[in-house]
Amino acid sequence: VPVNAPGVRLYPRRPFALQATNAFDYPLSSRFDESDSYVVFDNVFVPWERVFIYRNIQLSREQWFKTPSHALGNHQAQVRYVTKLRFMIGLAQRMNEMTGNVGNPAVQTLMGELAALVSVYETMLLAHETVGRIDDKGVLWPSVTTLYSAMALQSELNGRMLETIRELTGSAMITLPSSLKDFENPETAGDIERYMRWPRAGGRERVKLLKLLWDALGSEFGSRHLQYEMFYAGEPSAIQGREFRSFDWAAAEALVDHCLAGYDANSP
Ligand SMILES: Cc1cc2nc3c(=O)[nH]c(=O)nc-3n(C[C@H](O)[C@H](O)[C@H](O)COP(=O)(O)OP(=O)(O)OC[C@H]3O[C@@H](n4cnc5c(N)ncnc54)[C@H](O)[C@@H]3O)c2cc1C
Repeated sequence: VPVNAPGVRLYPRRPFALQATNAFDYPLSSRFDESDSYVVFDNVFVPWERVFIYRNIQLSREQWFKTPSHALGNHQAQVRYVTKLRFMIGLAQRMNEMTGNVGNPAVQTLMGELAALVSVYETMLLAHETVGRIDDKGVLWPSVTTLYSAMALQSELNGRMLETIRELTGSAMITLPSSLKDFENPETAGDIERYMRWPRAGGRERVKLLKLLWDALGSEFGSRHLQYEMFYAGEPSAIQGREFRSFDWAAAEALVDHCLAGYDANSP
């Protein structure tokens, strides 16, 4: 249906790119803002050749679960998410290298936990494929038990990972020059080079990295990403319900039966 069809109305949120004056100050908002819109269809004409399902609730539901579409759609979302996690942990590690804290045992403990969580998501991604099955038409159905378990924990673990990066960063993401223009004046540029450097990074290099970190974590763009990872696939309890329905309860309870059958009141 064309977006200008009578009755179609789009309500986009405010674009973040409008405030993002240049790529140095807002490297992500200025280039990668993905508009979200609320769409109203008010008595819109939809030609029959564009209608796939009509008043058939069962087919509407089964298109997602009797085909691999729900699993494949969410699997690609995990491919995206794992790439983003690698980028985020890379940013944190680069900061530690620049500050010189990379060898600090306390920092290594936090980064070790972060690396463990990122590795869990990387290996879960492999598990969706290796535990999945190929049907008689040669189509891969990712394993939904492993897929939904990664998704079910995402809203909690994503926030925890970002919290760790914020803890490592401290106030440094805030105490920054307001814009690229501060590098144009020799006086302010001199201050930045002299006072805003890190042991292993000059002022401009440090400011550049911290502005990228802020845009990834703290700006409107970064904050929208946090909300996105919590809710893009629907509310977390709905995903936990999917995991509940796909988990192999029989295998777990078979172990309990085996144990229960191994003793009784007369057992020594
Ligand atoms: C940034 C972002 C981008 C997204 N992009 C897409 C996309 O491109 N495509 C897509 O399909 N989906 C997308 N999603 C997911 C999609 O927006 C949600 O799945 C969908 O909006 C859920 O609708 P809902 O009405 O079930 O819940 P919500 O829109 O979350 O509404 C729930 C409402 O219930 C209220 N509420 C909560 N608790 C209570 C209570 N105890 N009593 C009364 N009210 C309560 C809340 O305040 C809220 O108003 C995105 C989500 C986010 C966050």
